Amino acid sequence: MSGAHRPRMLVAEGVSKAFGTGTSRTVVLESVDLVVHDEEKVSLVGPSGSGKSTLLSLVAGLGRPDAGRISIGGVATDGLDDAGRAALRAERVGVVLQSDNLIPFLTALENVELAMGFTRRPGRRGRPRELLAALGVDHRRDHLPRRLSGGEAQRVSIAVALANAPALLLADEVVGQLDSATAEHVVDVIFGSELAVLFVTHDESLAARGDRRLRLVDGSLVEW
Ligand code: ADP
Ligand code: MG
Repeated sequence: MSGAHRPRMLVAEGVSKAFGTGTSRTVVLESVDLVVHDEEKVSLVGPSGSGKSTLLSLVAGLGRPDAGRISIGGVATDGLDDAGRAALRAERVGVVLQSDNLIPFLTALENVELAMGFTRRPGRRGRPRELLAALGVDHRRDHLPRRLSGGEAQRVSIAVALANAPALLLADEVVGQLDSATAEHVVDVIFGSELAVLFVTHDESLAARGDRRLRLVDGSLVEW
């Protein structure tokens, strides 16, 4: 589903970001433009250190670009304060970062249940376990995060991100610790959803399963 005719879920225009000052200043993103339409699955590859995680965190509202504009579902994020961006994220966006996604003192199931916000979504009691089962980790539901393998924790984190039925999923190297068959299954679950997805990976064969593939090189995005 290429989806170019669909409404635009994510729009980034002229997004720039640099770290450091003086001689240690590194320009990571240089006027990046990116559109992800409703339900579209966009893969993003690029060498280590090319800025993939930086771009994803800016889109997630976890930092501010030095220049440029980002909007989610038609809402411009530069007009929002931290609380406003957090609220937009909670309402519309699921985020899976490379590490530290799970609350350490809650079990796998409790992490998903918390993310789902039972009080606001009555009638979906079974959904946390459905998600864990779809990702092949329901049998680990009563374990604390530190008792999960890296690959299990990644899949529980994906379940957390999907729990609140976001419109946009941002996923940063979320299958890196899985064997290839499990990784393909998890990518099928993610890409088989109705969400808009920005899927960061260093695996070009997984990236190729998206509707559209982008590469981040020297601060710019190119299609491939
Ligand atoms: P990727 O995810 O593609 O591997 P990153 O976005 O993590 O790349 O990093 C891009 C570059 O920005 C790297 O050179 C990294 O060291 C630098 N960088 C990322 N975050 C910060 C930060 N908070 N402070 C300083 N440098 C950073
Ligand atoms: Mg990264």
